[in-house]
Amino acid sequence: MDIVDLSARVQQAERRALARAITLVESQRADHRALSEALLVALAKSGRQSLRIGLSGTPGVGKSTFIEALGLQLIAKGLRVAVLAVDPSSTRSGGSILGDKTRMERLSQSEHAYIRPSPNQNHLGGIARRTREATQICEAAGFDVVLIETVGVGQSEIAVSHLSDIFLLLLAPAGGDELQGVKRGIMEIADIVLINKADGELKSAASRSCADYASALRLLGQRTQDPEGFPKAATVSALEKKGLDAVWQDICDLAQWRRANGHWEQTRQQQAGYWVREDVEQGMLARLETPWVAAELARLSKDVAQGEISVTAAAQQVLRGLGV
Ligand code: GDP
Repeated sequence: MDIVDLSARVQQAERRALARAITLVESQRADHRALSEALLVALAKSGRQSLRIGLSGTPGVGKSTFIEALGLQLIAKGLRVAVLAVDPSSTRSGGSILGDKTRMERLSQSEHAYIRPSPNQNHLGGIARRTREATQICEAAGFDVVLIETVGVGQSEIAVSHLSDIFLLLLAPAGGDELQGVKRGIMEIADIVLINKADGELKSAASRSCADYASALRLLGQRTQDPEGFPKAATVSALEKKGLDAVWQDICDLAQWRRANGHWEQTRQQQAGYWVREDVEQGMLARLETPWVAAELARLSKDVAQGEISVTAAAQQVLRGLGV
């Protein structure tokens, strides 16, 4: 495989090259990993940056409707949009939330959009790495916006927040009690909380929910990376395409403020550090998967159970054996 050629064609946003590059970084084969590394190094030289927008929400909340509506509006403004998905939990459509061809039908037909389904993997670490690398590929291909979608379960939002410049949380209108259902950790990483389906009969419930979430966000307090008024809550109707202009304006305002105040680069640097650390942790854990460790653990667990050695001393023996 000619990596120099592939890199050049990705940077010209050739769709087949893009698909090939993402398939390459998704591959688990050792020789493909080496090629992926070479490709990512070559692509990094482009120096291009997209606006990376993370979007989370439970199934049915309206993510694909929202992405399609917003994506089409951005394309109408002359922007190019890529959509990636992180979905470690689902077995629908063979593990892919974007596998269903009817999702984002109009957006997927646009030559200014690129939609990549989630790969069939169950391991979040693997999916996070693949999504991170696919994001880098889309940036080098010159997409103005990369939307990274995740279902609102488990740790995937946290992973996506570490890949995003701006993180949106999409929620359905609910009674006041259900506010408790949103985990604090997720509220803490959201830049904009959007109450979708603010139309028809749900409109007033959406306004009430929006006020509830706004006060919940105020209670969490203002963060250093935010200007006055953020994080914020707003209502939208993805179906009726209402509120989308305001959301885009908020996203642009926030991005611009963070750029002007040094938070943009700082956050990207922190994110790079996060991912290196993640990789180190994975590497360390992989070192535990050896027959020697298994045998040591079996031997030491007996000694610990019989009270001959403490848990801490046993762990230290293993760590010493590993040279840590
Ligand atoms: P996803 O699973 O989060 O991607 O949700 P979908 O975009 O597939 O939407 C789930 C259902 O909610 C579909 O029947 C949509 O038509 C509906 N839906 C999405 N957005 C809205 C909205 O703004 N208003 C209303 N009333 N329904 C919506």
